[in-house]
Amino acid sequence: MSRLVTFHRILGGCEAGHRESWQAFLSDYTPIALELARKYVPSWPTGPAGLWQDALRALAAENFQRLRAFDHQAEREFLVDLRSFLLEYGSRKLDPSHDVAGAPTPEAVRALLKGLPLLHQEILFLKLSGYSDTTLEALLRITPAMAQKGLERLQPDYASVVKKEQDACLWPAAWSELLAHARASSTEACPPLRSFVRIQDGQTNWYDKEPLERHLAECLHCLERWTALRELVYWRREAKPRPAEEINDLLACLPVQAGNKRGKSLLKRLFAP
Ligand SMILES: [Zn+2]
Repeated sequence: MSRLVTFHRILGGCEAGHRESWQAFLSDYTPIALELARKYVPSWPTGPAGLWQDALRALAAENFQRLRAFDHQAEREFLVDLRSFLLEYGSRKLDPSHDVAGAPTPEAVRALLKGLPLLHQEILFLKLSGYSDTTLEALLRITPAMAQKGLERLQPDYASVVKKEQDACLWPAAWSELLAHARASSTEACPPLRSFVRIQDGQTNWYDKEPLERHLAECLHCLERWTALRELVYWRREAKPRPAEEINDLLACLPVQAGNKRGKSLLKRLFAP
């Protein structure tokens, strides 16, 4: 079965509240959600797993209303919506007084990125979001020399992020606001997310790709979506699977039922004394 068919089947099952589908969903996406929660919302009172659990409950509320509103085209578009939902949910408990001083504003980030090639913008944006050099190089598939070249503009104003060895946002509250600002600043010229997925998959020819990349290099809204895609592809590949007990604990807080429950109860009714 193709990955796309599998994705749609799992999602359909989740919306119907089937336990097996949710088990697959949680096994696939819990590792990614925990990496994102750990990095962007480090101060959630019950930790990254607690944030994911609370966000899942909100996702499942009122017959999975929020889940149904996500982009269903393919897995990556869906994951971009899931990521935004998780980070927005987490932002309600972020305290600006816990941010390291000197957090970048949207205006400061726009000024910093202005006129740079797309790769350098990706490097700066992901670095400011809190990635270590090691993760940044693996995520963008670049050499340390390329990363260092891209980071030159961060000195001296953002020296604190350049030295980081752990993946953790230094200014979660301010960065969350910046991401929300970027998400809200789309224009009619912004291409659909599918166009970016196609570029990243190498399915776009030069004539189509060139104007898209030019737009990307001038639009914070699209740079946020583009880097989110790269981040999600990386964690989908690299995040370590979680133990079965942890997945079962998450399942226990969702309104799910065994897929064949109805069949069983019918049999029970038929053979009841
Ligand atoms: Zn745009």
